[in-house]
Amino acid sequence: MLPGSRRVGVDVGGTKCLGVVIDQHGTVTSWARRPTATRFDALASTVAAIIAELDEPGDDIDAVGGTGAGTIGIGLPGLVDRQGRLHAAPHLDDAIDLAPIEAASILAEHLGREVVLDNDATCATLAEWRLGAARGLDNMVLVTLGTGIGGGVVSDGRVLRGEHGFAGEFGHFQVDPLGPACSCGKRGCWETFASGRALDALAAAGLGMSGEQVEQAARDGDPAAQAVLDEFAHQVAIGLSALTNMFDPAAFVLGGGLAQTRDVLAEPLARWTAEYLYSASRRPLPALRFAELGPQAGAIGAALLSSSG
Ligand SMILES: [Zn+2]
Repeated sequence: MLPGSRRVGVDVGGTKCLGVVIDQHGTVTSWARRPTATRFDALASTVAAIIAELDEPGDDIDAVGGTGAGTIGIGLPGLVDRQGRLHAAPHLDDAIDLAPIEAASILAEHLGREVVLDNDATCATLAEWRLGAARGLDNMVLVTLGTGIGGGVVSDGRVLRGEHGFAGEFGHFQVDPLGPACSCGKRGCWETFASGRALDALAAAGLGMSGEQVEQAARDGDPAAQAVLDEFAHQVAIGLSALTNMFDPAAFVLGGGLAQTRDVLAEPLARWTAEYLYSASRRPLPALRFAELGPQAGAIGAALLSSSG
C-alpha cells in the first residue's frame, strides 16, 4: 500500500507527454497523453492540459506523498537538479538559450499547484524498483535500451541521485573516445554501441537489415543474424559488467524497446556480462530481468516521486 489514495505523475518524453493517476496499490486508474512541445513554455501548457484532463471536477487526488493538496510529480528528460531546475534537455529547442530553466516554479505557476521534478529515467527506475521487476531489492540498476540508453541506480535501498541530481547518465559513459559521434557531442559513448540505433547500424552493416529484421531472423534460427545479435549483446555487456563492478546490483532491469527481444538477447547478454566481470567465477552474478511496467514506468515513477526517500 502507498501513502495517499491517489497520486498524479506526468512523464515528459521526447515525442509524447503521458500523465497517469495511480491508486494506493500503484495501479494506473486513468491516463492522458499529448504530443510533446519543442519549447519549454509550450511544454508547461501541455502538462497543464494533461492535468486538467486527469483532474476532473470532483476527483479526489491526494498529494504526492501526502504532503500538500494537489502536488504533481513530473519526470523531465535531461539534467534536472535537486532544486527543480533543468540544465540540459535534448528535445527542447529553447533549453540551451534558457538554461538553467526554473522548471519547477514555471510548471507550478502554470498548474497552480506544487510540483516535484526529477529526471525521467530516474522516475522509471523508481517505478520498476517499487512496483515492477525489482520489487523488494535493495540494489538494482535499470538500463533502458531505446533510441539511446538511459537508466538509474538503486544502491543500498535508495535511488542514487548524486550531488546535483544528475547521477545515472550512463548512456554517455565513454567506451571509446575515438568511436562513433554521439548525440551529446562526444564520441564513442556506450549508447553509440549498445542502443537501438546502434543495433540498426550493426544490422545494416552486417546484413543490410533493420535491427527488427535481425531480431526476427535470429529468432528463426538464422546463424548470421544470431552472430549480429551476439556482437550487439557483447556491446551491451561491456556496460553491464562495468556497472556491476561499480554498483554490485542484485539485478539489472532492462527496459526500452529492446526489452521486447529478451528471448534472443538474454543468453548472450548473461554470457558476455560474465565474461567481462571482475572475478566472475567467484561471485554471484546479477540477475537479468526485464521491465514490467512498459512505457508507463516514467509516469508511474513521477507519481511516486516524493515517497522515494
Ligand atoms: Zn554521448
